[in-house]
Amino acid sequence: MSDIKTTVEVTCWCCGEPGIHGGRGLRRACYSRYLRAGTLDQFPPLKTGLPCLWRLEEYAELRNRRISVRVAAERIGVSKRTAERYEARLKAPEAAR
Ligand SMILES: [Zn+2]
Repeated sequence: MSDIKTTVEVTCWCCGEPGIHGGRGLRRACYSRYLRAGTLDQFPPLKTGLPCLWRLEEYAELRNRRISVRVAAERIGVSKRTAERYEARLKAPEAAR
């Protein structure tokens, strides 16, 4: 099976380790572990739960790799406008409070 477009790296919610995103902000190894154990529900579903946090992280990661705003937005599936909001947040992490 080809899964090229799903190879997005995240910092795992449960252990803080970097890895390929499996779901709910977890890397694949952890996601399948929780899935098997039936304890996935302790993590919020990404689409409806904590908004955008994982996307913001992924976005930051992509931008760190010198990927353009437009391409980074496409990779994580957000609009350019949303990407620009992320951009503003990343540029003013503390001052924005
Ligand atoms: Zn983990």
